[in-house]
Amino acid sequence: MAKANTPHIAIIPSPGMGHLIPFVELAKRLVEHDCFTVTLIISSESSPSKAQRSVLNSLPSSIASVFLPPADLSDVPSTARIETRVMLTMTRSNPALRELFGSLSTKKRLPAVLVVDMFGTDAFDVAVDFHVSPYIFYASNANVLSLFLHLPKLDETVSCEFRYLTEPVEIPGCVPITGKDFLETVQDRNDDAYKLLLHNTKRYKEAKGILVNSFVDLEPNAIKALQEPAPDKPPVYPIGPLVNTSSSDVNVENKSECLDWLDNQPFGSVLYISFGSGGTLTFEQFNELALGLAESEKRFIWVIRSPSGVASSSYFNPHSQTDPFSFLPIGFLDRTKEKGLVVRSWAPQVQILAHPSTCGFLTHCGWNSTLESIVNGVPLIAWPLFAEQKMNALLLVEDVGAALRIHAGGDGIVRREEVVRVVKGLMEGEEGKAIGNKMKELKQGVVRVLGDDGFSTKSFSELLLKWKDHQREINQETSH
Ligand code: UDP
Repeated sequence: MAKANTPHIAIIPSPGMGHLIPFVELAKRLVEHDCFTVTLIISSESSPSKAQRSVLNSLPSSIASVFLPPADLSDVPSTARIETRVMLTMTRSNPALRELFGSLSTKKRLPAVLVVDMFGTDAFDVAVDFHVSPYIFYASNANVLSLFLHLPKLDETVSCEFRYLTEPVEIPGCVPITGKDFLETVQDRNDDAYKLLLHNTKRYKEAKGILVNSFVDLEPNAIKALQEPAPDKPPVYPIGPLVNTSSSDVNVENKSECLDWLDNQPFGSVLYISFGSGGTLTFEQFNELALGLAESEKRFIWVIRSPSGVASSSYFNPHSQTDPFSFLPIGFLDRTKEKGLVVRSWAPQVQILAHPSTCGFLTHCGWNSTLESIVNGVPLIAWPLFAEQKMNALLLVEDVGAALRIHAGGDGIVRREEVVRVVKGLMEGEEGKAIGNKMKELKQGVVRVLGDDGFSTKSFSELLLKWKDHQREINQETSH
């Protein structure tokens, strides 16, 4: 509950675990250290998934959460991209948000600040009408944020699909990137997802500031360039890495099974394999990965979901409707029972990455997964699937040197031999050692930036000071 003089911040993530988790961490950071009051506003197109409910149930009582009524997407075809569904959910939740702000205003509990997601800038209309200061929390990295900020200009100056550009696109401070490596959402400029994203990025300039979940040791040049003042670019605050580190994790279904199993493995011997909260593989790919893991003869924990032709098919609900074990190759479990643990749908990732038996992470390069690995100094194998994951992989492999890239063949399938090559490369090769050393360096960088005088701490403090001043101004105005 908002107390009279305590700065009150409202935050509104977009649907999907990958956005809910960092927003919850932001909320926790605000209430823990700085006596802010936080209201977490949840929008959706249906009732929350089991995984979402378990995150929300783990919130401290100091964080209020409000569920907006589900947005009506009945006119949206089932073939629409997830980004389209996400952005429409946010926009169509505006009337309910307006009603909520109206009722908070009557009770004199309006927030001073509204922090929206990268896909939720239409909520600025509500914020501005109620004199609430609009901010964005960009729960991905500075390179992708830079592309988002450049998208309106690219849209004006490039007439073809970006993937047909012959030269890499140079954005200040960023890894030069070819159009075909741009995030999936912008690969078809006639698709609604592109149009909605462009619309959102055009509104970024209306924000009073953009918080980005990255840190200076990881992306020094992109962050420096983002912090150069420029017209139409709000101040950027690198406040990361903001990750869930708490041992009292949410969804505990498989927790003790995984952690007990890890306790019984040798130090630094286990590869963790997961494609995030919603990534899925095709049946053929699932099979090749299984056979590659078995052939590598390395220890592993693999989080599996039932195969699907659409890589993001579990985005809104990580739990498979069918039993994913039934898709494993015949004999796989027997063949790997001494060395591998296969887990259904969801694992206690943060604890697995922090466990001393874990020595590597084969990941889809979702930004939370990447940061959670960095915080624990765990080297990566990059296997991007959808959204901005290819861009994250490029950053991690080409620029940072914190990941080995797995390669698909001409048919788009990563074959079992390639799985064996990268798994062994990471776990016993020279390249793997170099990546491990880079990760150790980054882990130390995390400690530095989050220390009392650290870059991210200072950036966050600067922002909080602004928010406190803003709340004070509001209090003075309302007391007159
Ligand atoms: N996660 C987890 N257990 C799982 C899969 C995912 O705890 O089995 C968490 C993971 O720790 C991370 C988030 O879900 O915080 C996934 O976010 P990310 O940005 O990596 O990928 P996304 O799910 O958005 O694709």
